[in-house]
Amino acid sequence: MSVERTLKDNNVDILRFTWVGLDGFIRSKGAYINHIDEMLRTGIGLTKAMFSFTPMDTLSPYGSFGPQDEDIFLIPDLSTLTIFPPSAMVISELYDKGKPWDYDARSKLRLRLEKIEEETGLKFRSSFEMEFYLIKDRKPYDDARCFDSSAFYDNPIIGEIAKLLTNSSIDILRIIKEYGPGQYEFDLMHKDALRSADEVIIFKEIAKQVATKRGLEANFMPKPFNNMAGSGLHLNISAWKEGENAFYDMKDGYGLSDLAYNFIGGLIEHAKALTALAAPTVNSYKRLVPGSWAPTKIAYGYNNKSAMIRIPTPYPSMAPNDRRIEYRVPDPTINPYLLLLGVIEAGLDGIERGLKPSGPINENAYLRKDIENIPRNLREALNELDKDTRLKERIGNTIIREFINVKLAEVEEYESLVTDWEYNVYRKI
Ligand code: GLU
Ligand code: MG
Ligand code: MG
Repeated sequence: MSVERTLKDNNVDILRFTWVGLDGFIRSKGAYINHIDEMLRTGIGLTKAMFSFTPMDTLSPYGSFGPQDEDIFLIPDLSTLTIFPPSAMVISELYDKGKPWDYDARSKLRLRLEKIEEETGLKFRSSFEMEFYLIKDRKPYDDARCFDSSAFYDNPIIGEIAKLLTNSSIDILRIIKEYGPGQYEFDLMHKDALRSADEVIIFKEIAKQVATKRGLEANFMPKPFNNMAGSGLHLNISAWKEGENAFYDMKDGYGLSDLAYNFIGGLIEHAKALTALAAPTVNSYKRLVPGSWAPTKIAYGYNNKSAMIRIPTPYPSMAPNDRRIEYRVPDPTINPYLLLLGVIEAGLDGIERGLKPSGPINENAYLRKDIENIPRNLREALNELDKDTRLKERIGNTIIREFINVKLAEVEEYESLVTDWEYNVYRKI
């Protein structure tokens, strides 16, 4: 059956061709019902100047492109078609003159994963832990705190999000009432890496649609409120070979293979640069503070939630499929394709060079003055990314240069603004 027909049967009139900019924003162009099949074949034209969150100023655009540049094309990947009435979306890649565009993170990740499999036999599997706030009129939607059972008594919003996710082939493992009032977490089953990145986008779109319909906001800012918990997007990842988990080795006390430790070695080696991809907004760094359960120190540990990388407890079972590492820096403002590219390249660099991480750190890492900090703000992180020529080269200099430029513009705009805090503190100086 044609997609047009399927959408009509579901009473959906607009199919969004959706992509994520290098600035992390999800954007879409809508195809209208009578021409959907046609546009699925041809793609939809799109201006190249589509990265910046303030693209209207054509004299000082945040990226390299302006109104004079030729269009690229949004080419949909039909395997991502997701219908959650009354809306529907299909994740699209950016093509320039019939080829994947060098600035498009999704096609870059997809092609790189194919190449890695061809060359090494390794397939990456991953999943993200989706933390977010439900907000009404700029206040948390409920006053339920961590694990509060009452949050589940009659929660139509969480219930509807779960139902639409399930209808969209997203496999939910756990739903958690997180620490902050109004804050929730959905943990998803691991899938191949590309799909896990797509699911971040689909998840955010579904959660926002359900919330919007009820006059609420599903908020994915890393730190929406002062003095309340931040929202992370922890990445769980493992590498597989011939259908078996290559991160698993039962001889190790924590069930991890040398390959997994080398991968961790790569993440530690490139930790500072990776932070720019994992915590890519000025708001991200208000979450990454001591005591927050979000990391500040470049360290790994066994089930240590104060460390940058956690090796989750393997007990009660040493189930091989479950062995993985958890990278705790990412937050929901990432471009998930670019993040996975970065993490996988850093990890592969560790594997190729046989890097062994020192550690583990099994005590409260926040208190360890002798361990290096992850960058403390976006400017510092971008600077570290720029300095890491090895990682930049592996990911692709063109896309990283553009990412740094777009993000530096964001930092500069932010730094130029006077905050309420400054006014309150300094007005009588
Ligand atoms: N909300 C914390 C963060 O921002 C994570 C809490 C947890 O360990 O689940 O990373
Ligand atoms: Mg959590
Ligand atoms: Mg976690």
